[in-house]
This record gives sequence, structure tokens and C-alpha cells, in this order.
Amino acid sequence: MKERWVSSLTLPYEPSVDQFTKEKRSEIMRSVRNQDTAPEMRLRRALWSIGLRYRTRTRIENAKPDIAFLGKRLLVFVDGCFWHGCPRHYTKPAENAAFWSSKIEKNRARDARNNQALDAKGWKVLRVWECEVEKELERVVDSIQMRLLKNEGAGA
Ligand SMILES: [Zn+2]
Repeated sequence: MKERWVSSLTLPYEPSVDQFTKEKRSEIMRSVRNQDTAPEMRLRRALWSIGLRYRTRTRIENAKPDIAFLGKRLLVFVDGCFWHGCPRHYTKPAENAAFWSSKIEKNRARDARNNQALDAKGWKVLRVWECEVEKELERVVDSIQMRLLKNEGAGA
């Protein structure tokens, strides 16, 4: 059965927030921070369609993985290209460059701290960019499957 994706990408693919007013920008910041973004949903549906089952909205240590395979100790994060500074898509907004740089830097530092904390507790962490989910969904799904197989017998 061929899965049909609902095309409901509500966020700009490469958000260029600097062209908006302050109010509009705060609105975008709020919406971009929401859980259940289109790339996340897309990846979840792909995983679900091949029979994988997982948890969402979990909180482990201080992290909120987007997709959690608790038994296999694998946590998947779908990182937004803008917010986490994807090397392919993050471009400094022209306006308020310093503000944005420090914001993105903080996010990246927090990601790194979370990775370390989770690793220390025996969690495997897989971070994928939202652009990878958009453009290379099959490869992302394959790599998740590979990790799950590797963690087979890791104990639950
Ligand atoms: Zn990207």
C-alpha cells in the first residue's frame, strides 16, 4: 500500500524570519518551536507504516526526543534547520544577526549537553535534520532501522 503524505508543511522550509515585523517574528518563533512539526509527522508516519512502534512526547533526562524507542534505548530528534543551525540551510538573518547567532548557539550547546547526558545514561541518540526528512526520507528510515537492529539484545 502506498502511503500518501498529507502535504501540510505549515512552516517556511527555510525560514527567513528577518523580513517580518517584530510581532510576526514572535509568532513564527512560537509556531516553529511547536512539537509535531510537519517533518516530524512525516518521519513518524513512515516509521509507523513499516511496523515500527515508538513513543512521542516523552521526556528523558532533560531532553524531549521527537521519537523514542524506549525498549531499544534509541532516541530520535528531528532538528529544525534554522533553530539548530543546519550547515546546509542555516543562513544568518540580516537583521539582528547577533541576537540570532547567540540564540542558535545556545540551542546547539543545549543539544550537545543533552547528547552527552543521554549517552552517559546508555541512550543512543540519533539526530536528523528536517531537510533530510524532507529530501531523503528513505535513507533516514533505513538508518533508524539499522540502529534498532544494532541495539537488538541491548536489553530493555
Ligand atoms: Zn537543513
